[in-house]
Amino acid sequence: MIDAANTSMSSYTSPHPRIYIRRALSHQPPAMSRFSEPLPPLARASHISHAKHALARLPGSLVNLDASRMAIVFYCVGILDLLGALQDQTSDMERVSWQTWIWEQYAIGRYGTGFKPGPFMSRSSTNSGHDSPHIIMTYTALLTLSMLRDDFARLNRPGLLQFVGSCQNRDGSFSSTPNGGGDSDLRNLYSAFAICALLGDWSSIDVERAIGFVDSCRTYEGGYGQLPSCEAQGGTTYLALAALHLAPPGPRPRLAPAEKARSEHWLVHSQDASGGFRGRTGKAPDACYCFWGGAALRILGAHDKINAYAFTQFIASCQFPFGGIAKAPGQPPDFYHTYMSLAAAAMYAPRVELSARAYGQWDFTPFNPLLNAREETVRWARSYIPARTS
Ligand SMILES: [Zn+2]
Repeated sequence: MIDAANTSMSSYTSPHPRIYIRRALSHQPPAMSRFSEPLPPLARASHISHAKHALARLPGSLVNLDASRMAIVFYCVGILDLLGALQDQTSDMERVSWQTWIWEQYAIGRYGTGFKPGPFMSRSSTNSGHDSPHIIMTYTALLTLSMLRDDFARLNRPGLLQFVGSCQNRDGSFSSTPNGGGDSDLRNLYSAFAICALLGDWSSIDVERAIGFVDSCRTYEGGYGQLPSCEAQGGTTYLALAALHLAPPGPRPRLAPAEKARSEHWLVHSQDASGGFRGRTGKAPDACYCFWGGAALRILGAHDKINAYAFTQFIASCQFPFGGIAKAPGQPPDFYHTYMSLAAAAMYAPRVELSARAYGQWDFTPFNPLLNAREETVRWARSYIPARTS
């Protein structure tokens, strides 16, 4: 645990831009003494323009991410949603064009319906088996469409349930594409659980067998590995704990009190002296693990056991002066770390007595740690994605 920071209202002054840039480009980790310093401003306008620029045209340097384009769209639209810019700072035409692009990746096949990562293989709406829908991309597409307030009139719910069921393996795990295709790990299992939770329908999967797989990934430290016998990692620990909490009630508690206490202990001690979270024991802190570790502790109800001010200080120090947030201070930014850092800040931005301007800059609307979106977006999803009974 890190001592609470001094956050007095009178101590806040805006940092000089040149000092700020030098700090952001520095490779030095933040020192403990910085926790008594004022929180740097959230560069809201720069982060918004960084995301909007990417949505207009992905930078050429990211061409290697073409196979994950749906995820990039999720991060960029998500950045705008978290910063409250989606409705106010984008046009109707832009939002409709993003919705249209996402629906163009919707594919129908003999294993049901879902979303493909992008048009890099085929624009066909009928998948041949070589360009199948992908379960993680389907989860991100559903959330992104919810951010864009889509009415899901085009969603084939029985087809979606069939697709999710076809991705489950005999050991309870899920593969990324039907019939055992692609990777098989906790990322896919979490996505399957999130889709079933959004649909309000768990009938196409074997929940108890899936929980058995999650349990088999648990380690002696109280975290979870990607697969059985793998080292505990912050990201997979979040995915496991979120899946256990999304699941419908079972014959026994999903997490025994002693297991919960062990997980809390490991997660709390993943926050290091810089205020950031590390992904694995002994590693350096990384802004995305502020989300994975921070959201996992929120889910466990143990969010008050970390130093939220130091946490936000670390995220603030990872901001790039021209927009975007990096994994660590001085590193180049990317959309993944920008979204995850803002989502982390949305859960922990300290409610402190700073000046009204600074308070507003780090202020976010309520965030849902289980589904990784703003509460308002999750409410929309839960209202429009399930089958209508009337
Ligand atoms: Zn990272």
